Amino acid sequence: MDRIECVVVGAGVIGLAVARRLARAGREVIVLEAAENIGTGTSSRNSEVIHAGIYYPSGSLMARTCVSGRPALYAYCREHSIPHSMCGKLIVAATEGEVDRLQIIRAQAEANGVEDIRFLNGDEARALEPALRCVAGLLSPSTGIIDSHAFMLALRGDAERDGAAFAFHTPLSGARATPHGLEIKTGGDAPMTLVCDLLVNAAGLDAPAVARRIDGMPVERIPPAYLAKGSYFSCSVRAPFSRLIYPVPEPGGLGVHLTLDLAGQPRFGPDVEWIETPNYDVDPARATRFYPAIRRYWPDLPDDTLIPAYSGIRPKIVPPAVAAQDFMIQGPADHGLSGLINLFGIESPGLTASLAIADHVAALAAQR
Ligand SMILES: Cc1cc2nc3c(=O)[nH]c(=O)nc-3n(C[C@H](O)[C@H](O)[C@H](O)COP(=O)(O)OP(=O)(O)OC[C@H]3O[C@@H](n4cnc5c(N)ncnc54)[C@H](O)[C@@H]3O)c2cc1C
Repeated sequence: MDRIECVVVGAGVIGLAVARRLARAGREVIVLEAAENIGTGTSSRNSEVIHAGIYYPSGSLMARTCVSGRPALYAYCREHSIPHSMCGKLIVAATEGEVDRLQIIRAQAEANGVEDIRFLNGDEARALEPALRCVAGLLSPSTGIIDSHAFMLALRGDAERDGAAFAFHTPLSGARATPHGLEIKTGGDAPMTLVCDLLVNAAGLDAPAVARRIDGMPVERIPPAYLAKGSYFSCSVRAPFSRLIYPVPEPGGLGVHLTLDLAGQPRFGPDVEWIETPNYDVDPARATRFYPAIRRYWPDLPDDTLIPAYSGIRPKIVPPAVAAQDFMIQGPADHGLSGLINLFGIESPGLTASLAIADHVAALAAQR
């Protein structure tokens, strides 16, 4: 039976960042990926925003890894010539009633160590973005956008340069603890059995299902999986904004916001739709809810300009009634199974936080 030091399950941005980090530390790594290529899951179905770390509860893993992951990501982008832009973002209050929410968000951002956030009155916000309707705004200069595919390609390249191997069409189908390490079985075209010292479950939406396939993983430590789909619409006219525009957040997501791609093309979304079974269809009828949501901050959005684009699914581990969740990263001290690290609920800001999450996983792995 083949033996390898570390197995990473999933070649999304998290599995890639973890594989790179472990390989860089001189560890022998193989990445098992069920799909045909890297980044075909949530990592290619998001807003591609480099978040500042504004909203998350103080001390949460989301807050810590976003605030430390953001500068690491900008530095990585510069070093690897990954297209990105620190274009800034405005969170806007459409009514006087929402201004208090902005103050709460600003206090949270400052508590998280986001020091450059600024409160603007309506005139100051419109001086930056004349097409905006709002009574006040928060400016986050360090928010930006990134070409997430270029980022993932660079992570894979780094990992491979340091010796990591990738097996595509190779889903993990089961694992069990043995006296010699974790024994792993894969399905796919060429099923194999491996023994490893470290198994990192970075299977995104499927992370809870993968954990259930690991014999000896206590089921009561596996969180439930809920799916919160977010649909995006592109726009057939150019939006007259140079920064990202966000409303105040809504339950389950950040509200239907305007992001720009690196070519300056606008896209709107994601909304929040709780679903039972994964599907990535975008229902054109959802546009009827987008128009009024967008016109709260961009009243001049013309009729019939929104075009269904794509969707992503947030890997929730709390039900709709629970306002916020945190990343759940479990090592042996949490679940008792030596050599296993599970990453659950890695929704936004997972892309921004990926390099910091990889450091966190490497530290957990070193504790064993
Ligand atoms: C709508 C939306 C918008 C977002 N916007 C942003 C944003 O603007 N900025 C930001 O920072 N974050 C954002 N995020 C969060 C970010 O996209 C995710 O945190 C990140 O992509 C998660 O990466 P991952 O590697 O955990 O998951 P994935 O990318 O889903 O990767 C998991 C991989 O595991 C594989 N897999 C599954 N089961 C198995 C198995 N049994 N064996 C082998 N492989 C398996 C899958 O095929 C997949 O490739 C957003 C998320 C969503 C849903």
